[in-house]
Amino acid sequence: MSADRYDILFEPVVIGPKTAPNRFWQTPHATGFGTEYPDMQAAYRGMKAVGGWGVVFTEATSVAPETDKVPYVLGRLWDEGDVRNSRRIVERIHAGGALAGVELEYHASMSVASEGRLVAHSVDPVAGEGPLPVAYAGTAAALRESDIARVQDLHVQAALRAVDAGYDLITLHCGHAASLISHFLIPYYNTRTDAYGGSFENRARFARETLTQVRAAVGDRAAVGLRFGVDTLDGPLGLGDRGMRHDGEAPRVLQHLDDVVDYWDLIIGGVDWGQDAQSSRTARENHEARFTGRMKRYTAKPVVNVGRFNSPDTMAKVIRSGQADFIGAARAGISDPFLPAKIRDGGIEDIRECIGCNMCVSRANMANGRIICTQNPTIGEEFRRDWHPETFETAGNRDRAVLVVGAGPAGLECAMVLGKRGFDMVHLVDAAEEVGGSLNWIARLPGRQEWRHVVEYREHQLSKLKNVTTILGTRLSADDILDYGAEIVVIATGAHYAADAVSPYDRRPLSLGDTYRGNVLTPEEVMSGEATIGDRVLVWDTDGYFVGPGIAEHLAALGHDVTAVTPASAFGPYLHQTMEDARMTEDLRALGVRIFPSSGLGHADADTVPVKTLAGSVDVGVDTLVVVGQRVADSGLYQDLQDRRSEWSQAGLTSVYSIGDSLRPSFIADAVFSGHRLAREIDSPNPAEPRPYIRERRLLNATETDFTLAGRAQSRTV
Ligand code: SF4
Repeated sequence: MSADRYDILFEPVVIGPKTAPNRFWQTPHATGFGTEYPDMQAAYRGMKAVGGWGVVFTEATSVAPETDKVPYVLGRLWDEGDVRNSRRIVERIHAGGALAGVELEYHASMSVASEGRLVAHSVDPVAGEGPLPVAYAGTAAALRESDIARVQDLHVQAALRAVDAGYDLITLHCGHAASLISHFLIPYYNTRTDAYGGSFENRARFARETLTQVRAAVGDRAAVGLRFGVDTLDGPLGLGDRGMRHDGEAPRVLQHLDDVVDYWDLIIGGVDWGQDAQSSRTARENHEARFTGRMKRYTAKPVVNVGRFNSPDTMAKVIRSGQADFIGAARAGISDPFLPAKIRDGGIEDIRECIGCNMCVSRANMANGRIICTQNPTIGEEFRRDWHPETFETAGNRDRAVLVVGAGPAGLECAMVLGKRGFDMVHLVDAAEEVGGSLNWIARLPGRQEWRHVVEYREHQLSKLKNVTTILGTRLSADDILDYGAEIVVIATGAHYAADAVSPYDRRPLSLGDTYRGNVLTPEEVMSGEATIGDRVLVWDTDGYFVGPGIAEHLAALGHDVTAVTPASAFGPYLHQTMEDARMTEDLRALGVRIFPSSGLGHADADTVPVKTLAGSVDVGVDTLVVVGQRVADSGLYQDLQDRRSEWSQAGLTSVYSIGDSLRPSFIADAVFSGHRLAREIDSPNPAEPRPYIRERRLLNATETDFTLAGRAQSRTV
């Protein structure tokens, strides 16, 4: 049973004609499944419901073909086919005991509508009066007053399809300055001079009329709400005072529209929705409270708040204090779909806490990417691999003694899952004095402390598994392993940054020439605290993610004079996908870090390194060069064992596997997945080869059996 102090989170809440069973609201978020992959979507959302989320939304759902965001895979409610696919999704959510919600959106000027080559409409009153004041491709046409009723009816028709599919909650999107409703509302976009522009009432007219029509159409079959961005923030990332402000018009919006909604889902942010979904580098728990926290006083309807909620204590406080009626979250439920159930059932210490890395978000931003998570390797695998985040089948070969070498993210995950699969004996051995591998230094980079949860969650799980023994401070050679007595060996020895890294840009190792007098360090050496680091540091980055900028920030904060050079068009370009780039660049600038993108390095003259930019060469004084480049797999031990295969049988060894970075250096999410995958499939005919997964796609003459692994359509044999 839940401790009393969390009971408030499990109270039912009336939302118009519906009642949510508790206060956990899984907000709309992209998965890459949309309505095009209904089984993946259904299994994904259904798992959240089973995990205790009282309200489970799907994702931004286009109301009509002219408001299509291809190549992004999002929801669609355009026709009977979309209704049919949505029904399956809703059924799974209902089966888990949750209310099912859909977020309808007319994407307005964000619509590329490239699938049907149609024309979306924007708020602008008259075509040809100047450029569209948005940061997107500007493909939308002016919406004439005579066309407004037609566009409003697109919302109504989509809402009717939503209730036909069985959705309980219909949210109209009015956040992130993304939808037509928000563009009408916000002065930055709305320059109309007709009845839908100018005064507050005029700008709010489109929202009011559309909500009224949708509500009248669906009646008591669904509750209707608004996902409202109460502050579009300051420039340059926001819209400034011509946007929506929490201390400006936002309270008035709530008061003005309160009688035509059943609930409010409150968020922040302008076109750059990365300010709403900030990573843990810049945002703490409940970071949106200063914008959304006082809004409840302006409405009589239930209010949802979001903001990196992770702690049950914070959640209970938010409800108790009257800040909100629902705890809204996407990432917390991606990282742990069973978060509510664990709070309810007294398993708080078992929560797989979101680290706020935004790897999930990066997949959504990469258009067509399927969702993944650093913490939860089962996310997105509910249907196609039939993985459940909390339950594990007893392994058919559980009586085999297993040795996992390396206690980084991959080794920890593998040992934990093997333990949960009931192996009699698993030994997890690492040369270091602590578990965690590369995360031990990564989590010391500025703002990355929360990434330690990847280690801490698994450490805690291992502490409860009596069949898994962790042995630290022990470096094993091939001889040691052959003497160990293990039947199955898993090598998870990680990877390291190469000082002579080959750049993916020119396929050559960096060469500063023979006259360079400074030292050259890798990120691990910098973070070891043992290396001598000169005053003037040049960070050469071809890695492209957080390590280069993180090292630059770390050293600049320590007082070093830092220059960053990269052949990429931005310093840490993957940070754009995790929506951390803008704030990272700003923080580096504030620390005085000079950044040279799209640049290379020439041959040094003693302590001077020429930085080759597109505009010419700039000499930079360098005492220490930090190479953040290619990572090389530490696969030597695996190779040694392979070379001694003839000795395995005498040693009682049957199989040796390689996982994580020692197999292929990649994201931490991939390392965790690799360890999980092997442990899930350790009793398959050939665990080194991933089992086939169900491919969901359009199939001619398909039957439901075709979407099972046993189905002929999934067979890889000819
Ligand atoms: Fe949280 Fe990172 Fe997982 Fe996203 S990928 S849910 S931010 S841990």
